[in-house]
Amino acid sequence: MNDDKKIKWSKNSNNIFERFAAELEDGIETGAKVTTGNQDVRYGIELWRNRLEKKGLKMSYDIAARGLNSDGNNFREWNDEHYINKLYYRTCELKKTVNKDEKKIFSDFDNMDMYQVVTDVKSDVRVDDDIYCCPNCGASVMIKELVEGCPYCNTFFKMDELYPKVSNFYFLRDYSRTEKEIKSEIRKFIYPLMIAGFIGYTVYFLFTIGLPWAILAGAFGGFLSGGIIGYFAWAFSTLGRLFKDAGKAVVLLANVGGTMINFNKWMKRYNNDISYEYFQAKVASLVRVIIFSDDPDDLPFYDGEKINGTFDNIIDMNRGALAVRKINEENGVLQTVVDIYMLDLYENNGKVKKKEDKVQVVLEKKTDVALDLGFSIKKIQCPSCAGSFDATKNKVCPYCNTSYNIGDMDWVVKSIKIVK
Ligand SMILES: [Zn+2]
Ligand SMILES: [Zn+2]
Repeated sequence: MNDDKKIKWSKNSNNIFERFAAELEDGIETGAKVTTGNQDVRYGIELWRNRLEKKGLKMSYDIAARGLNSDGNNFREWNDEHYINKLYYRTCELKKTVNKDEKKIFSDFDNMDMYQVVTDVKSDVRVDDDIYCCPNCGASVMIKELVEGCPYCNTFFKMDELYPKVSNFYFLRDYSRTEKEIKSEIRKFIYPLMIAGFIGYTVYFLFTIGLPWAILAGAFGGFLSGGIIGYFAWAFSTLGRLFKDAGKAVVLLANVGGTMINFNKWMKRYNNDISYEYFQAKVASLVRVIIFSDDPDDLPFYDGEKINGTFDNIIDMNRGALAVRKINEENGVLQTVVDIYMLDLYENNGKVKKKEDKVQVVLEKKTDVALDLGFSIKKIQCPSCAGSFDATKNKVCPYCNTSYNIGDMDWVVKSIKIVK
């Protein structure tokens, strides 16, 4: 909006939120390593890049700070035994561009809230024996081994290079505006109308009262009608946009609030630590991996009908409102039905289309499985020999050949479909 004063977040910032945003821009455009992201975030970006590459597309995300909370550091947090998660958000503007064969085929601009979940080790806890994906070679090894030098690639790491990491991120549309932004938006409506009014009135009066008086009358008429009509036009367009976008979600907002209380009440019965914020972030990351995967049927945490090919044309996804439709527990399995309102970009034959999708997801988790914020499909631990490996690449444990079941460790997606 104010190009002259755009504040870009930097990779050299000492704030992890800002570093991640800057690295993400690079990661999407060039495939550069997002070192502030954990292995699951990097995996999600890798799949996304792969989708774009297969379609011969280049996408860029241009993120700049703006708005009422452009440098805020407030957060919500949740914990498990070893780790602490903090959910931060900041207001920003997001410009997306899609290129095919060096030609721009799509661009979009919007005010957004960027959300990031930052995972850190609790200050009073030792995590030496926890498994970590080597940031250099990707092997799953114990943290104490990485500190002494990765047994596979010999790289040494200090603890502050391993944590904190961004373990999830998403964007939601931001409707809030600073006073300055409101003024500049109104001006965009008023000035053209004032000029049009000035010309119109001047020409009209030219024939009745002559040149000098006509200009005066024109200026007065243009100023007044342009100002009034412009202001109302701005108000209506803003309202219209709000209702169009929030559209289905307006009815939902109350519902979403209600389900959040319900959700937390339900979860308290089983595990105090599963907060709604944690759950939302979890769902967002599972859905991102499923949608960008070329072979979702084969994902270790997907256990439903065949869906290969269903999402192949989606090249960008932004999460909207999330509504928990149903929660119930049977035989030690907790099942939730969730509707996610998403804003997706589809590409087909060089044409990019923006589409609102309602995606219904059914998720299950065993109630006796403790919350593990360090859980990752890139470093699961074999239930039989305790060896650790990448579940996205191994159907059975590569050390002892035992098959494993992600359902014994974390959430499983039982079904995912676009409802509308
Ligand atoms: Zn290594
Ligand atoms: Zn094993």
